Amino acid sequence: MLTKTPLDPWIYSKISGRVGMAGRLTRMMIESYQLHQLKATLALAAEKSPFYRRLLAGLALDKIGSLKDLRNIPFTTAADIKANSMGMLCVSQSEINRVVTLSSTGTTGRPKRVFFTTTDQELTRDFFRCGMSTLVQPGDRVLILLPGEVPGSVGHLLAEGLQRMGVHAVPHGIVQDARKTLEVMEREGINALVGIPTQVLALARFGPPGQNNYGLNVKNMLLSTDNLPRAIIAAIEKAWKCRVYNHYGMTEMGLGGGIECRARTGLHLREADLYFEIINPDSGENLPDGEEGELVFTTLTRQGMPLIRYRTGDLASFIPGPCPCGTVLKRLTRVRDRIRGRVPLGGGGYLSMSMLDEALFAVDGVINFKAAIGAALGPDRLSIEVQLAHWAGREVLDLISKSILSISVIVKNVHQGYLTLAPIQVDRSAALWPPAKRYIQAGDGCVPRTHF
Ligand SMILES: [Zn+2]
Repeated sequence: MLTKTPLDPWIYSKISGRVGMAGRLTRMMIESYQLHQLKATLALAAEKSPFYRRLLAGLALDKIGSLKDLRNIPFTTAADIKANSMGMLCVSQSEINRVVTLSSTGTTGRPKRVFFTTTDQELTRDFFRCGMSTLVQPGDRVLILLPGEVPGSVGHLLAEGLQRMGVHAVPHGIVQDARKTLEVMEREGINALVGIPTQVLALARFGPPGQNNYGLNVKNMLLSTDNLPRAIIAAIEKAWKCRVYNHYGMTEMGLGGGIECRARTGLHLREADLYFEIINPDSGENLPDGEEGELVFTTLTRQGMPLIRYRTGDLASFIPGPCPCGTVLKRLTRVRDRIRGRVPLGGGGYLSMSMLDEALFAVDGVINFKAAIGAALGPDRLSIEVQLAHWAGREVLDLISKSILSISVIVKNVHQGYLTLAPIQVDRSAALWPPAKRYIQAGDGCVPRTHF
């Protein structure tokens, strides 16, 4: 019998206000609570924030009688945060405890600034405590491979959440030298970790296959990102004989969004703090469960800077039917691609980073790669630079080439003369590349296409 996600009793307790009391959560309970919180959030935003007062002007907020009525409320976007972050505040600046500045991946535009009060941060800490209890228990020793030096940063809040449940948190930060991090794991007796997929892959592939014993005490880990390739999960689980869980979240969500339960068949979401929708990115219409579209969320409990129908730019779908763990909470598919991350090819079809991820990370010895595509003249050219484990030989390059040519849209476009493949570049430096949003970049000398 599978253990039910710990989010279920946690959300029951938050909704019912009966802390620590067991009870049966129902969809009706969740939805009536969400409607109540949505109306409170809209009222707060319209009253306190100049940006939302303009956005919501003329809308009959008091007529909202069901979650469906939210469909009449306009969306907000990353561009709104860039242009109006101060105007979105619903508290005075003195009540803001943490500001996160997110630099833009594009070439233009201001950074995004996201504001949190002390209460907002407590909600995140509490979610981390609850979510992590899926995979760790009191007495475990968890290495945190996320930025965590500054109070309020993701690693710091996670460490605080873990300490509350009697788990020993070992803050580490981003991995730069795999050997040093593996030595820390050995010295600290680490048996669980939280990190970024490519970074943990570099640890798991540090030694040749079958000879990397450093991580063998790790039983469970949580990997968090926009895409967690199946090939990375398989490689890590094989090397370390552990279980990999997926978390999805973004700063705008209050860092945490959803986490897999022990069934690992989709992400359960923070439904007491966030209301999620899936929309058709072109029409803005809501899509039924099972159909992939853009993930949109509304904060239900955020005080400092509520976000209303915020378009994440990420693609996902709700999984129809109940989870094997027995909860009534929804399940979201893994988020693999961003809408703007799909590059159309001249001969038809599109290429995305997640397709390349599955092909390249399946090759043992690959620890990271960058991809660029574009053409100043003539057919598109796909360039790939890989970072290889120190033990990987030239034969790995042949395997990579073969693996790239297993992607049908690439084969089709190469055969039709719309795509060429540049020789693979190799970086063998021991220092890991700093983690960054991974997407297909515009090739040298190319005009970035609209979707970049
Ligand atoms: Zn479940």
